Amino acid sequence: MKIMLDAGHGYTTAGKRSPDGMREYEFNRVVANYAKGLLEDYQNVTVYFAHSDKRDVPLKGRTDEANRLKVDCYVSIHANAYGSNWNDANGIETYVHPVRPKKTTELAKKIHRNLVIATGLKDRGLKEADFHVLRETEMSAVLAECGFMTNREDVKQLRSDTFRKTCAEAIVKGIADHFNLRKKTDAGTSPSKNPAPLPSKKGQYKVQVGAFDDKKNADELVDQLIKRGFPAYILFE
Ligand SMILES: [Zn+2]
Repeated sequence: MKIMLDAGHGYTTAGKRSPDGMREYEFNRVVANYAKGLLEDYQNVTVYFAHSDKRDVPLKGRTDEANRLKVDCYVSIHANAYGSNWNDANGIETYVHPVRPKKTTELAKKIHRNLVIATGLKDRGLKEADFHVLRETEMSAVLAECGFMTNREDVKQLRSDTFRKTCAEAIVKGIADHFNLRKKTDAGTSPSKNPAPLPSKKGQYKVQVGAFDDKKNADELVDQLIKRGFPAYILFE
């Protein structure tokens, strides 16, 4: 099956940042990258990105491409905002179009429930909105808002690599559950025949491959490593 992930917006999109300067796209793209890696562990899944790190793809370009490729589902990943100053609005909300097939509601509910459980953030519910990416897509389309950039507590999470990974895992769990996806390792053909030896003691030896002052450089290296199949992640010390 074909899945399109959309890290809403682009680096240069006006607004779309926390009062202290975290760009929403920074969060969205990392979650999308993690989700792509996780989805590719499943059989018969091809993942496409609607967004680009190089430009802010217009909404019409995103949905036209999804329709052209005839993807089976479209998931738009966002961080929320209420106004542009700090305030109390917080939590997770997931959107579907007011007019949609029942299966889209089912998919959205699964993604939403997994996000709420995994993040422990407030459940603001499943909501309806006439957003372009929900209206103009011809397949099941869901838009997830994973916490508020305008809330001091939520934004701490939105900045954390662990939280970003948690959101990706939750979104992927919802998709995998809805479409009954099977892990590649369940096929009984390859890696499971020769499983990697388990560590004999508790704890693991991990190897650091880089240290950067600029988060962007760390993100880029992690992306490259994940593309090559290493379970890379970022630690901030
Ligand atoms: Zn957004």
